[in-house]
Amino acid sequence: FKIKMDDFELFEELGKGNYGTVQKVWHKPTKVTMALKEIRLELDDSKLKTIITELDILHRATSPYIIDFYGAFFIESCVYYCMEYMDAQSLDHVAGCNVPEDVLARVTNCVVKGLRFLKDELKIMHRDVKPTNVLINRKGAVKLCDFGVSGQLDRSLAKTNIGCQSYMAPERIKGESQGQASSYTASSDVWSLGLSIIEFAIGHYPYPPETYQNVFAQLTAIVHGDPPALPDRYGDVAQDFVGQCLEKSATRRPNYKQLMEHPFLQQDETREVDMVKWIAEALAYREVHPKTSTPALA
Ligand code: ADP
Repeated sequence: FKIKMDDFELFEELGKGNYGTVQKVWHKPTKVTMALKEIRLELDDSKLKTIITELDILHRATSPYIIDFYGAFFIESCVYYCMEYMDAQSLDHVAGCNVPEDVLARVTNCVVKGLRFLKDELKIMHRDVKPTNVLINRKGAVKLCDFGVSGQLDRSLAKTNIGCQSYMAPERIKGESQGQASSYTASSDVWSLGLSIIEFAIGHYPYPPETYQNVFAQLTAIVHGDPPALPDRYGDVAQDFVGQCLEKSATRRPNYKQLMEHPFLQQDETREVDMVKWIAEALAYREVHPKTSTPALA
């Protein structure tokens, strides 16, 4: 069926991104709560139509680790993207809320399975792995959103991208500074995964504050400095997994098959993890201890 603006009753705003807002909505014809993302783009109609067509392959993207896509349409210069509503927001919201190692492993396993699904089934890389693009719900599901499915959409967004906290791999930063667009491979997503796991564990962007005050210092630290690591309270197996994701040389990073064979994820396959309980506790903790916003970039 075709989805359109008239079908929705608007509820509250869920969040603000770089390009527009995400709203909780009620889809009247199906009686389903959805999330409606508005992406403001100054584009002509033919480009907007290309985006809608390209987004269509998402109708084939059914995986427990990928946000369900319900449809997209455009009005004037805005693309509206309609997706599954996740009632525990994104991973950054519960990051740092006393994350035990079994929860860390379960979330990581879901993200790796999602990335592998995108690569094997849809032949795409994610290109924007970061905690705000990993969504969770109170049932314990962990799903990816905002992946690079539409080339036209990616190109249109890139122009306005004001990257503050960078999850980009060193080779991507180097490639872009030299004007190479194709320095990107799936192993760049593996780097971003490693940074996201650490941020989930510690509750803030893993490079020290003095580097994220300043874009240049931050990019220099990523390219030339030592990669960050998990805090000592996590075991050797977890440390090793994250260490392999954050290999500075892209060719030395494991692929998804190798990551899934790593003991960190193998242990998770057979372990009971009470995600429902952990998420409820994390959300309750967050209510009492709201996240302090990260300082703005100079
Ligand atoms: P960004 O551009 O930073 O990736 P988005 O515009 O994608 O941010 O989303 C902004 C915020 O809206 C997210 O951090 C998340 O909290 C919320 N959000 C996005 N999609 C959903 C969804 N499907 N269900 C619930 N909340 C969502």
